[in-house]
Amino acid sequence: MRRVIGVDIGGTAVKGLVLDEIGNVWAEASRDTEAWQGREAILGKLNAVVCELLKACPVQAIGIASAGRVNTDTGEVVYATDNLPGWQGLQLAGWAEDTFKLPAAADNDANAALLGEAWQGAGRGRHNLVMLTLGTGVGGALMIQGLLNRGKHWSGGEFGHSVLFPGGRLCNCGRRGCVEQYVSGSALLRLGNELTGRAYEHGAELMSDARRGDPDALQVLEHYTSDLAVVLDNIGATLDPELIVIGGGVIHDRDVWWPLLKNRLQGEGLSNILAAAELGNRAGCFGAAKLALDCFRQLPDGY
Ligand code: BGC
Ligand code: ZN
Repeated sequence: MRRVIGVDIGGTAVKGLVLDEIGNVWAEASRDTEAWQGREAILGKLNAVVCELLKACPVQAIGIASAGRVNTDTGEVVYATDNLPGWQGLQLAGWAEDTFKLPAAADNDANAALLGEAWQGAGRGRHNLVMLTLGTGVGGALMIQGLLNRGKHWSGGEFGHSVLFPGGRLCNCGRRGCVEQYVSGSALLRLGNELTGRAYEHGAELMSDARRGDPDALQVLEHYTSDLAVVLDNIGATLDPELIVIGGGVIHDRDVWWPLLKNRLQGEGLSNILAAAELGNRAGCFGAAKLALDCFRQLPDGY
């Protein structure tokens, strides 16, 4: 059976897995990253993760998930926001092919997370899915009738850069009031510090205060979930998906905020179609591996 590598370049770590065609995990590696690292530093971490995995297990292809708009035909990052300096214009799949002498594919990280969840996670057996990842940024992806809607300019499903508050906070994409500025993990931490006057360094500290019933921390989560509910209500109203899968670091502590979110939703039946990513923070790696496996897929006659 074929084995491939799936790597996910995230805001806090580059994570990688070796998977086979039925989703068994054969090896795992990761390297921490820091925000605003330059292109060479991130490629260095990517290289280290892939080398460690190749040592553990021979593979036949590599799939890479990255923030930004990725042209999946050419494997190029055609657009990246300012928090990935030097990333725009990078031939990501080409770099991996040259470096590791293996076929490679690349896609947007949220698209990969959706592919992963549709393959081996919460979206198994479904064909009309939305994915929202709440992490350093907000990733979004849309599957219609079993196919990812990547869009003409590779920004299909980027719900994180739809506008929630016109004229609001300046986003890394240059626009104002984007969803990402209000419901990402980073936004939650900032909101927590603003509303409580505390100096939380990690979202987990805020979550554990809320879990203990701290009224200030709970107020932060009320605020956060009311914004998130608007985003989900809009998605539900316009796309009417079978399932909305929510992933990213923030879902770790969903026991504290999921019930608050459900209370805020207006869309009829919307709370019944919300699911947490079953693959957790491995969803992007699973999807990247699926892309790599699809490099070998036989196209039906007539293609
Ligand atoms: C990027 C998206 C990405 C998301 C999650 C956003 O800032 O613009 O392309 O999917 O972060 O990493
Ligand atoms: Zn934006």
